[in-house]
Amino acid sequence: MEKEKYQVLLYYKYVLIDDPETFAAEHLQFCNQLELKGRILVAQEGVNGTVSGTVDQTNKYMEEMHKDPRFKDMVFKVDASDGHAFKKMHVRPRSELVTLRLEDDINPKEVTGKYLSPKEFYEAMQDENTVVLDARNEYEYELGHFRGAIRPEIDTFRELPSWVEENKDQLEGKKVLTYCTGGIRCEKFSGWLIKNGFDDVGQLHGGIVTYGKDPEIQGELWDGQLYVFDERIAVPVNKKEHVIVGKDYFDGKPCERYVNCARPECNKQILCSEENEHKYMRGCTHECRISPRNMYVQEHNLSQEEIEARLKRIETEDGVVQQ
Ligand SMILES: [Zn+2]
Repeated sequence: MEKEKYQVLLYYKYVLIDDPETFAAEHLQFCNQLELKGRILVAQEGVNGTVSGTVDQTNKYMEEMHKDPRFKDMVFKVDASDGHAFKKMHVRPRSELVTLRLEDDINPKEVTGKYLSPKEFYEAMQDENTVVLDARNEYEYELGHFRGAIRPEIDTFRELPSWVEENKDQLEGKKVLTYCTGGIRCEKFSGWLIKNGFDDVGQLHGGIVTYGKDPEIQGELWDGQLYVFDERIAVPVNKKEHVIVGKDYFDGKPCERYVNCARPECNKQILCSEENEHKYMRGCTHECRISPRNMYVQEHNLSQEEIEARLKRIETEDGVVQQ
């Protein structure tokens, strides 16, 4: 019997939702009826979701959504999948779709950067007078990014104004391009740049996901993989060549394998080879390794002697005194 085919949908729409709480509750029921799994955020400013299901279930979902006048032109990015990409179905009301927490919120329907198709973005990137800014988080950038793209060294979007102030010389007089996973973060990020004095700002329409699917560009100039917020974690983008940019947390060797630190209270996401997962008992620090709650130790039923032996090996090989 042929295995049933699944799809993963990624989508967003900035559109007024009068009552996000009620919408979320009803939408959850609707998704459960279709037996979808995934995560959907609902705010007054719109919806942002990613769901998985069989081809029939996901097609039905898109069809029903398009019947709603608010979502009649919603663009769904569709990926084939071997199964569900989520364990549960959540629909959550939120105050904003992407956590930017700006003092003066940006309404992308009023101000946003110029939408560039994958081909336009590809061409603009190669212009000498262009600066490419990554609008994502560090752990996403580390797995893969556009060749030559800058990731502002900030922990939250709130720090961006001062980053731009301090790095104005890098951006002034240039064409500024922004990109993110599916495009939703750039709608605001590019709008913010325009509002703050940059007049030539472009954003990758449909995000990296769309860029990788373009039949002509085929993800060219993307290095590494794309970090996605479901169980797949990493998906390929560049169909022409695969350059690994991810580096193993422990030894810095090329790596695209993400694991979470085995101490549940830490749970830090790190790139780590299988070999180093065993060597370091999947602990990102000595404290995490020796924690009585270390899940790796439990999963592998390590005795105290075995733990001691591994710690000793780390000490010998890495030349660092562990205490
Ligand atoms: Zn840790």
